[in-house]
Amino acid sequence: MFLAKKIRLRPSEEQEKQLWKSVGTARFIYNWTLNKQEENYKNSGKFISDGILRKEITQLKKSELSWLNDVSNNVAKQAVKDACNAYKRFFKGLADKPKFKRRKTSKPSFYNDNEKLKVKKNSVLIEKVGWVRTAEQVPMDCHYTNPRISFNGKYWYLSVGVEQVQQPIELTDGTIIKNINKTAKVRKLEKRLQRLQRSVSRKYEQNKEGNRFVKTSNIVKQEKQIRLLHRKLMNIRMNHLHQATSKIVKTKPSTIVMEHLNVKGMLRNKHLSKAIAQQKLYEFKRQIQYKCEKYGVQFIEADKWFPSSKMCSGCGCVKKQLSLSERTYKCEECSLEIDRDFNASINLSRYKSVI
Ligand SMILES: [Zn+2]
Repeated sequence: MFLAKKIRLRPSEEQEKQLWKSVGTARFIYNWTLNKQEENYKNSGKFISDGILRKEITQLKKSELSWLNDVSNNVAKQAVKDACNAYKRFFKGLADKPKFKRRKTSKPSFYNDNEKLKVKKNSVLIEKVGWVRTAEQVPMDCHYTNPRISFNGKYWYLSVGVEQVQQPIELTDGTIIKNINKTAKVRKLEKRLQRLQRSVSRKYEQNKEGNRFVKTSNIVKQEKQIRLLHRKLMNIRMNHLHQATSKIVKTKPSTIVMEHLNVKGMLRNKHLSKAIAQQKLYEFKRQIQYKCEKYGVQFIEADKWFPSSKMCSGCGCVKKQLSLSERTYKCEECSLEIDRDFNASINLSRYKSVI
């Protein structure tokens, strides 16, 4: 599981000079590589491998490009790779011809070897720059991928992929959050609402003058009651939703995996449409997402095609058909019998290892 992190750096003045040197080197080598590739292409129509170019740089470092020794070897190495990759993509027709990086318009950035990136409390070791203070803690005890240092015109940043080494604990505990629409209170209000709606439409019919509907003061009164009831029901549902989503996120799981909800598809099923609309699934997802962000929990939405319901959480086999009326999942392969939703939630909790 990878997380992309971008953390502000607080380099000293001395360190900043060194950072600029690395930026300059990365840009120089990138342009040098593009130039080499272009020349070579003009002459032979071929592509030079990055290994050959790197060897050439090693030679140049001994003579005319000795200043390259001031910065980490990996900065140049990666700049060659980046330029070669950009050129390869152009060769394959996947991208436009790569442009030369200009001092004024290109984004100042360079690579730091991931093996050499060391982290301690509120600081990070950048090659040939030293321990640079960070505005927040870079995650420790994990693998790093593709660390890049960049400058946005005001601040320096470290962008890095962070892989959590420790296996996340599965927290599928079978907790079920009640369906608010099935509580006595909501049902009673729904009934009252229905009665009022029927009564109003009857009154409209009774007071019809020719083809024209007339609003009597009684109708006005009842329509107001209907509006208030709608409001009340909505408040109850929203309140329940907020409580439920907070309860889920506040258990502080490392990850929340949510089933991909094909809401449009479900709404086409007329038996389900009302129930789905009431459950406010989009709103549920929205709340979970922003609360996850607030509490630092990773949010994953499972792929549309992930068979969370049709897969057996015991043996992994996938059923071809599973009707909505089958509330208990019965596996024909390993004879597991389990609540349908619980089975799906176990599958979802393992989703990250599937992708
Ligand atoms: Zn099974």
